[in-house]
Amino acid sequence: MEKGVLAELIAFIAKLPGLGPRSARRIVLQMLKNPSEKMGAFANLLTKVMDEVKRCAECGNIDIVTPCNVCTDNKRDPNVLCVVEDIADLWALERGMVFKGRYHILGGYLSPINGVTPDKLNIDSLVRRVASGDVKEVIIATNSTLEGQSTGFYISDLLQQYNVRTTRLAHGIPLGAEIDYMDEGTLSHALKMRQDYS
Ligand SMILES: [Zn+2]
Repeated sequence: MEKGVLAELIAFIAKLPGLGPRSARRIVLQMLKNPSEKMGAFANLLTKVMDEVKRCAECGNIDIVTPCNVCTDNKRDPNVLCVVEDIADLWALERGMVFKGRYHILGGYLSPINGVTPDKLNIDSLVRRVASGDVKEVIIATNSTLEGQSTGFYISDLLQQYNVRTTRLAHGIPLGAEIDYMDEGTLSHALKMRQDYS
């Protein structure tokens, strides 16, 4: 049985999404076959990422510059904002190359019973962006879960006072579906067929 720092490392890796104790042990053993090369490189990369990656002050994306490359890309339409729960959703939309506007990352979904009230998400900064003028449409691409949908309604209501169209991804996405797990065709269709909040 592994003990001490080794057990600590395995337990840490086991808690990462998609992994468990079994994969964690395999990963660690694999790296220990050539510790100076594999573990050293891994440790260096982690440090580099920690030092270099920043959160975009504008949209909440991560990049090595802020504002991020998406925010400063002038080929993108500044009039359309796509609101997503997490960076993984932005990555999914970018993989599909289906969206040519800019993003706003909420950092989660509203869940008052778990203490996630509006002030815990990047909602104030979204309102500020909308209020500042350029944005004409806000596509609220929260997940099709109960929490995601109610977060979407909350934001749409909040933006009512501004002269901006709010839309959501098309129905037809099965309830409970998460954007990060959708294939590109479904995502592209959901975006094209988006509907107004009313
Ligand atoms: Zn950005």
